[in-house]
Amino acid sequence: MSEEKLDKIKRQVCFKYKISMPTNIILLKAYHKLLKTNKIKKNIQLENLLKTRKVRSLSGIASVTVITKPYPCPGKCIFCPTEKNMPKSYLKNEPACMRALLNKFDPYKQAKMRLQALEMTGHPTDKIELIVLGGTWSYYKKQYQTYFIKRCFDACNKKTSKTLKQAQKINEKTKHRIIGLTLETRPDYINEKEIKRMRNLGCTRIELGVQTIYQDILDKNKREISLEQIKQATKLLKDSGFKITYHMMLNLPYSNIKKDEKMFEKLFTNDFQPDQLKIYPCAILKTAKLYKLYKKNKYKPYTINQLINVLVKIKKIIPEYVRIIRIIRDIPSQDIVAGSKRSNLRQDIQKKVNCRCIRCREIKDIKTNNIKFKKLEYKASDAKEIFLSFEDDKKDKLLAFLRLRITDNPIIKNSTLIREVHTYGQTVPINKNIESAKQHKNLGKRLINEAEKISKDLGYKKTAVIAGIGTREYYRKLGYKLENEYMVKNF
Ligand code: SF4
Ligand SMILES: [Zn+2]
Repeated sequence: MSEEKLDKIKRQVCFKYKISMPTNIILLKAYHKLLKTNKIKKNIQLENLLKTRKVRSLSGIASVTVITKPYPCPGKCIFCPTEKNMPKSYLKNEPACMRALLNKFDPYKQAKMRLQALEMTGHPTDKIELIVLGGTWSYYKKQYQTYFIKRCFDACNKKTSKTLKQAQKINEKTKHRIIGLTLETRPDYINEKEIKRMRNLGCTRIELGVQTIYQDILDKNKREISLEQIKQATKLLKDSGFKITYHMMLNLPYSNIKKDEKMFEKLFTNDFQPDQLKIYPCAILKTAKLYKLYKKNKYKPYTINQLINVLVKIKKIIPEYVRIIRIIRDIPSQDIVAGSKRSNLRQDIQKKVNCRCIRCREIKDIKTNNIKFKKLEYKASDAKEIFLSFEDDKKDKLLAFLRLRITDNPIIKNSTLIREVHTYGQTVPINKNIESAKQHKNLGKRLINEAEKISKDLGYKKTAVIAGIGTREYYRKLGYKLENEYMVKNF
């Protein structure tokens, strides 16, 4: 059944019974009720049609964002807002924050509520990317960190465990598996000890507050971070297999359009090379120190056209192995005193530039008969990164990719590191002949095989994956074993 056909049936039935059109959410709820009572049979096609915002779980992974309790941050950044009863830099009106407030920052309740909402709207919740936000994670007490993560695992396990380790063990085989865990912190808090701790918690991706890579601008904005610390944190994290997201801020005080553009050219050179980006234009909020500068006319935000032009230029130079997660923060416009209030900035820019970042190339229609294997190499933090992918080069779409790191300093000795494996949903062949169906199968597994082959050819004895807790079983089936919190395959 097509979407048009479903709409036609809805209209006919509503006309017949003289009722208003029900939303797909209401129909989906009714469908699940009937299914539970065995009054109808499961119909995956109908489920897919009724799902709202299909894009959200296109990759089959549901994101669950949870926020840590209000807590100070050691930073004094002048652009950073401070709201009462909120973790530093977060605002009450942002969607995930509203959910956190409603649940008094209880991690278990936040995760549970989000999971329920996803289930209710028909999204698969068997693979979860847990994203923990709120100020500087590394500054929270260790005991709180462990409690917080454990309770998130408990919520996914639908069971309270005694310890974090126990909760993780259960999660390896449970229905809602945490396949990725993101924490956000400052670069100057990253060291070997902290990395080990983050791995023990199950973390696979770090969001680093970088904002700018000009030392003088860092200093003038009171970031109290050195460029050396940013480089060092990036290297340490990559050599430990982590995926890295940089938060970058445009239009910072003491920067300008030229500097902002140049900054992004420099970002994709050896010392930095983030895997993902969150780009935020600086916004003036009443609770940030910057507000005073603005009042004294000492700071002026870019006009919307200037901002769009900068972003268009930036997008043109984004390498194809980088994913832009977002280019605007979910700040409600009424909170912004000055700066960009346009929430559909991404769409405005999209019209002007053909962005080749991962997000823009993720396959959406999941129908193709043209799958090509690609291998791209680049230098990052004094080591080699190999980006393997399956792509539809005619449509310029990405079906699956893998990040392999070849470094002299891997966290697991004598090993190459698989930092990320991602496939975009079950791709469906257009012609259902056997050859084309075969071509679409197990793209993730085929990339892993290729990475192993490259590692062997280079003389390595093993390869290690920074596997999320919920993917350990998958890797076990491929011959990997748990070693120091990594899944490792000995050749
Ligand atoms: S480090 Fe981050 S959270 Fe802390 S003050 Fe600076 S911007 Fe805000
Ligand atoms: Zn893009």
